[in-house]
Amino acid sequence: MTVSTLPATARRTQPPMLAEVVATRMLAPHLRRITLTGADLDCFGYDGPDHMVRIFLAPTPGAELHLPDSAQWWPAMQAMPEQSRPVVRNYTVRRLDRARREIDIDFVLHGDGGPASAWARTAAPGARIGVFSDRASYAPPADTDWQLFVGDETAMPAITSALESLPTGTRAIALIEVGTAADEIDVRTRPGTTLTWLHRGSTPAGAGDVLIRALHGLTMPPGTPYVFVAGESSMVTTIRRHLCADRGIAKERVYFGGYWKLAAH
Ligand SMILES: Cc1cc2nc3c(=O)[nH]c(=O)nc-3n(C[C@H](O)[C@H](O)[C@H](O)COP(=O)(O)OP(=O)(O)OC[C@H]3O[C@@H](n4cnc5c(N)ncnc54)[C@H](O)[C@@H]3O)c2cc1C
Repeated sequence: MTVSTLPATARRTQPPMLAEVVATRMLAPHLRRITLTGADLDCFGYDGPDHMVRIFLAPTPGAELHLPDSAQWWPAMQAMPEQSRPVVRNYTVRRLDRARREIDIDFVLHGDGGPASAWARTAAPGARIGVFSDRASYAPPADTDWQLFVGDETAMPAITSALESLPTGTRAIALIEVGTAADEIDVRTRPGTTLTWLHRGSTPAGAGDVLIRALHGLTMPPGTPYVFVAGESSMVTTIRRHLCADRGIAKERVYFGGYWKLAAH
């Protein structure tokens, strides 16, 4: 990966940029990698492995895409006529190559009920999308002895990027929930990392308990941990309670990211 960090100010002064799909690839039956290019991606601000972007899609499939023209994208978007306001969603940069002006985003295909998932399922080279570089949250303190990563497939881009960026020999444990073995992907883990895939089977995404059950059975290594947990919001809250209340991990040593919310039925 060709990256360097730009000051946050450089990033936040740029409005959402226009990008175009150059390639797509199915990584697993429900995960599609989309490679985007854009003239401004050579100065894309990037803070680390879980770097979040806001993506902007046309309000309805086939409609024209209009982007907010300010780095203060939210108020700028509210000022746009309602019918031309884009749809905004949050995603993770899986790969950045400034020289080639490319980023990869891995989209979970969870169905056409979500505009982002529906767009990603059919997006082809030439399709246009807006991208705003936001921020990263993964930040293990210097005194960390070992790291724990827990998440579902929406957190897979962040967790796998973090695992691949670890200095060799860093002790790390990763638990990732996917549907079945077919949804597992190749990850270049370093010595010192244990990655366990957990399958929820026919249980719908966000409704299972395989991660929390695996955590209950996990023997924590000695020393001071840093924990990164991301995925469905209620699952993340349950895991937070277990790690902080039952396992006594200080909440400052844990990042919890509610990445999506299971709809109430
Ligand atoms: C910091 C951050 C980083 C993220 N990175 C990624 C990433 O790299 N890749 C990625 O795929 N997602 C990522 N997400 C999650 C993504 O933003 C959500 O899944 C988002 O809701 C998808 O938008 P949508 O338009 O497809 O569905 P929405 O319109 O938001 O939701 C429509 C329906 O789909 C359901 N739904 C949403 N997501 C899922 C899902 N994953 N599985 C099952 N049902 C779902 C909702 O409950 C709702 O009922 C990230 C979120 C955050 C906050």
